Amino acid sequence: MSDGFGIDHLPYGVYSTEGSAPRVGVRYGDTVVDAQELTGQAELGGRSLNAFLALGPEAWAEARAQLTRRVPSVRGLPLEQVTLHLPFEVGDYVDFYASLDHASNVGRIFRPDQEPLLPNWRHLPVGYHGRAGTVVVSGTPVIRPCGQRLPAGSSRGGPPTPEYGPSRRLDIEAELGFVVGVGSELGTRVGVDTFQQHVFGVVGLNDWSARDIQAWEYVPLGPFLGKSFATSVSAWVTPLAALEAAWCDLPGQDPRPLPYLVPTGSTDGARALDISVEVVLNGEVVSRPPYRIMYWSPAQMLAHLTVNGASTRPGDLFASGTISGPEPDTRGSFLELSWGGKEPFAGGRTFLEDGDEVTLCYSAPGTGGGRITLGEVTGRVEPARE
Ligand code: CA
Repeated sequence: MSDGFGIDHLPYGVYSTEGSAPRVGVRYGDTVVDAQELTGQAELGGRSLNAFLALGPEAWAEARAQLTRRVPSVRGLPLEQVTLHLPFEVGDYVDFYASLDHASNVGRIFRPDQEPLLPNWRHLPVGYHGRAGTVVVSGTPVIRPCGQRLPAGSSRGGPPTPEYGPSRRLDIEAELGFVVGVGSELGTRVGVDTFQQHVFGVVGLNDWSARDIQAWEYVPLGPFLGKSFATSVSAWVTPLAALEAAWCDLPGQDPRPLPYLVPTGSTDGARALDISVEVVLNGEVVSRPPYRIMYWSPAQMLAHLTVNGASTRPGDLFASGTISGPEPDTRGSFLELSWGGKEPFAGGRTFLEDGDEVTLCYSAPGTGGGRITLGEVTGRVEPARE
């Protein structure tokens, strides 16, 4: 039995075998079982999870109960015999910036003489809309992006003149993604107390970032081509039901957020998830970011994302932003690990080189007393295609 994929986990994915159409499966140990066959749930018969996501918490719980009963008695397909696909069709994709340590580090690196946090940061979960169509499944190679960037040393004298070429500062951002199941109507908001009625589960997520392209283009409208070339997610979606033992208190919010971000009931609205992350570069762990100390909770991010009446759909994805802790070896990006490229780490490393492989690993307390292993996110950097 593969560690962390026992009966208390049962994450969903989409798989195919040679010559067959992709279908929804559930991982148990190092095998995958057919989800529709075991649950009788018609909405699990497609090529993606979306129809099942739309059903809502009651159907999710019913399917999970069936799977829990039946999975141990069936023989699944060994993982090495299947191809894994993107598990859901991504609707809209939003990326937040919810780690206090990450936001502070970036502030110190780029604006060393100013207050690291901008005035809005403690009042709202800062975010931007990303590109849903370039969200790819773990294992998809990442081609080094080309774009406009400033030549090295161009800050001295005269107006800056960009050049075109492959990014020289390709980076990762270790994040967690949340998958919306039940959407919400245009003109309405998702309350901070109703997170569990809308969100189905979580995926590992790597927000690949070209720092040089980003630095030149981002003012005044925010991230664009420095981010949109690829975002990798894990092949497995861990249902929130498997994370019930992982909820923990947020480190604290000061000042108190506006009322729409404060839960009224005893819900998980202002709670965090105790998920540990490992950043692995070419087989070596280079950082261990802790998700539990993020400033903004997942429910607050969804409440904020819809507070203007923006609707959501099954398959929408919103991500946490880079997960970083206070210690140097808990930083979730190479930008921070190398302090803007000035302090090489892991034997002389600053940013990603062609051929590098980055894997993000995640684990959390399971409901069975042990730990579950969330789906990993891996990608290898391929040379630019100029
Ligand atoms: Ca990000």
